[in-house]
Amino acid sequence: MKNSITAITLFIISFFLHESCFGQASKKTKFKVLVLYENGGHHLAFSKAAKPWLNKLAAGNNFTIDYIENTKTINESLLNQYRLFIQLDYPPYTWSEESMKAFQKYINDGRGGWIGLHHAALLGEFDGYPIWNWFSDFMGGIRFVNYIPDFASAKVIVEDKVHPVMKGVPADFLVQKEEWYTYDKSPRKNVHVLASVDESTYQPDSKIKMGDHPVVWTNEHFASRNVYIFMGHSPDLFNNKAYTALFKNAILWASNKK
Ligand SMILES: [Zn+2]
Repeated sequence: MKNSITAITLFIISFFLHESCFGQASKKTKFKVLVLYENGGHHLAFSKAAKPWLNKLAAGNNFTIDYIENTKTINESLLNQYRLFIQLDYPPYTWSEESMKAFQKYINDGRGGWIGLHHAALLGEFDGYPIWNWFSDFMGGIRFVNYIPDFASAKVIVEDKVHPVMKGVPADFLVQKEEWYTYDKSPRKNVHVLASVDESTYQPDSKIKMGDHPVVWTNEHFASRNVYIFMGHSPDLFNNKAYTALFKNAILWASNKK
């Protein structure tokens, strides 16, 4: 009798231990991230390199990622599930009215953070779509003008070394292959610039330049923490330690509220 009571007690204890372990495991998932990516076109190779890198980062930092490849499902209730929205090379056009409104509300109300890469600032009239004026303001009031179609390497200069997004990122670093978009003006007076490209280091040199040329910035006039990172064309970027440090920092910073 005594033995069977001990056995039952041990069973109950082990059951609760087991339960509490599972409980801890589920508590470990701290937040969810939504990634909008391009599943085709010029940036397919980048998307393919980004996904395993993002998934590994998520596993090591207790967040989970859901991926969408177009904006059709974006509405308020979808966005409200996420602490961070990453616009991985997806342009600010082809969005439905509902998805645009939901995104604006998410950012204006500070519901979650945002990171946009590269194509996310392709602001202008494309494929019959008008420019998204709110988005242009969000990006510092810019309009896309041109790019270097044959690519150039260049040196990126970190301007705000103490910002959390630049932690562990060297003061300057080389990017081997980019299109270096130009805009109708520098967004500098409307945003906080974190890094810019030194156009004099273009290899090969190019006539497509804009002078003051920010490439990483955050717009502090909006409620959501946000970071735009221009670099995001070549999959080789995931072998560039400065770039992966920058992208990782941006994710961890922007996923926390102001
Ligand atoms: Zn590109």
